[in-house]
Amino acid sequence: MHPIDLTPYHAAVRDEVCGICLDHTQAGGCARPNSDPCPLETHLETIVESVLSVRPTSKIAPYISALRVINCRQCREDANGECELRNLVDCAVDSYVLRVVEVIEDVAERHGDGRFAAAS
Ligand code: SF4
Ligand code: SF4
Repeated sequence: MHPIDLTPYHAAVRDEVCGICLDHTQAGGCARPNSDPCPLETHLETIVESVLSVRPTSKIAPYISALRVINCRQCREDANGECELRNLVDCAVDSYVLRVVEVIEDVAERHGDGRFAAAS
């Protein structure tokens, strides 16, 4: 499988997720501190990989499970599977997971990435 170009995913996340995020500033930026950035900035590759590992389904639970197993373990979960940001309801991936999944699947379908490759 060819490596996925993350450029359109970054652009779509900024347009479609940042726009509804409480950390989105009026100037169009992100209010998260540079020392503690959003996982959609730091871990987009494994977030995309997680979403595209799920067989298409209308249920959100399989996507949440894949994100926890593939992404969160590489992001900031501790050895007990806890994430301080998620517990504070301050993780954009967790808070806006429906939108994140929709946006990633839409970009993947348009670009023929991951499980959409055969249909491209
Ligand atoms: S926290 Fe994440 S989703 Fe929210 S504005 Fe910042 S980069 Fe966008
Ligand atoms: S829940 Fe925690 S570990 Fe998972 S993506 Fe969000 S910040 Fe990263």
